[in-house]
Amino acid sequence: MANIVAITGRPNVGKSTLFNRLIEERKAIMDNISGVTRDRHYGQAEWCGKSFTVIDTGGYVHGSDDVFEEAIREQVELAIQEASVVLFLVDAQEGLTGLDEEFANVLRKSKKPVYVVANKVDTPNKVDYIGEFYALGLGEVFGISSQNGLGTGDLLDKIIIHFEEEKEDIDKPSIPRFTIVGRPNVGKSSLLNMLIGEHRSIVTDIAGTTRDAVDAHYTAFGHNFIITDTAGIRKKSKIKDNIEFYSILRSIKALEDSDVCIVVIDASQGLESQDVNIINLAIRYGKGVVLMVNKWDLIEKDSKTAKQYEDAIRSKLAPNDFMPIIFTSVINKQRVFQTIEKAVKVYENKYKKIPTSELNEVMLKVIEAYPPPAIKGKYIRIKYITQFPAKTPTFAFFCNLPQYIKEPYQRYLENKMRENFDFEGVPIRLFFRKK
Ligand code: GDP
Ligand code: GDP
Repeated sequence: MANIVAITGRPNVGKSTLFNRLIEERKAIMDNISGVTRDRHYGQAEWCGKSFTVIDTGGYVHGSDDVFEEAIREQVELAIQEASVVLFLVDAQEGLTGLDEEFANVLRKSKKPVYVVANKVDTPNKVDYIGEFYALGLGEVFGISSQNGLGTGDLLDKIIIHFEEEKEDIDKPSIPRFTIVGRPNVGKSSLLNMLIGEHRSIVTDIAGTTRDAVDAHYTAFGHNFIITDTAGIRKKSKIKDNIEFYSILRSIKALEDSDVCIVVIDASQGLESQDVNIINLAIRYGKGVVLMVNKWDLIEKDSKTAKQYEDAIRSKLAPNDFMPIIFTSVINKQRVFQTIEKAVKVYENKYKKIPTSELNEVMLKVIEAYPPPAIKGKYIRIKYITQFPAKTPTFAFFCNLPQYIKEPYQRYLENKMRENFDFEGVPIRLFFRKK
């Protein structure tokens, strides 16, 4: 289950400032990797070893004044439904406002934990100002400063109590679980309908035990698989911003419950930053990824088009460009079969175990051919490699001076691992340990 923290509150209380603070470290890394993640409104954060997804709801309402209230009300309701914890931000410098009270009216109905967070308490002596927010009737008020971090640690200590333990799904499930994600209108429902219709294949519907989603079992193209959260994908809202908000919330949850994420994009639109975000999130969760470039029928093409299109996508995703990319037309039933085949293959790769002897035989040779560069006159020797049990392929390299193995060499090793063993579509992790 995904641990989701939704930051709600009226405009200008500091939601995006808090969001940035919570995902700070992560964001710096992501920006480095992809360079296109700045307009992101959700991200991964960590506190005391527990990781969670933070959503800045403020990013999703751009409505004009008349739809504004309705949009916000609906959005807060969605946030309550989907999040594990809701943070209700108010502005300690401005004090209580009418709009805060309206938010509170919606939030009071929540069965989920709601924390009133009085932001902009920049110095400890300003804590006196937060007393008036107790009138909201939502319990304890936490004074924080998103700007300088005051009080955020105490708040996080409280929040993480509500999180479920991350289960290490290290055992291979007998049936692969896929999730289909992508922006609205790219062809996700068409794909599902084709899988259902053509092959008359929903065998059973199993109601999720802890959530309202329905996971459907499919038998198509000779494979058994489960598609998580199809109910969520079909549900629609009237308000455009909220459709996006909702679809991202559902994607995050479905993602965490699956082995392989089939990311669908529209060939005529190309890969957008939101798609890159979802792919990076899937990788961060240790999930397999298959990228489906749908509506390929709409593209005017010659013999080079697919290759050029693929190269362009890969360079946008680099270095996280290890997933299969398939050009499909669901409408013309083109290559949907290959997509499912690839997804099954990626699932196999995710749970692949390389025998220690084979691993050492291959990789020690690779290392011998191009050893890690000496640092400060010290030679670095990698002596032994082994695969760890983990939810995504994870390898420990035992060596004399692990701290001296720098990023370029790590990347070299990852590339060689991928060249020698097929890990198409799955993130792999390398660790360096002292021996
Ligand atoms: P949002 O609309 O709720 O996302 O609010 P923003 O994060 O954009 O912040 C609105 C304004 O409040 C910005 O000018 C921020 O710099 C400021 N702000 C945010 N957090 C703090 C804080 O902890 N202290 C102070 N003094 N200002 C803050
Ligand atoms: P969703 O919002 O991602 O579930 O997208 P839908 O499955 O509802 O599809 C949106 C629109 O794109 C519909 O009008 C589909 O008929 C159309 N569509 C889906 N797949 C294809 C395709 O491969 N080629 C073309 N040209 N249109 C498609």
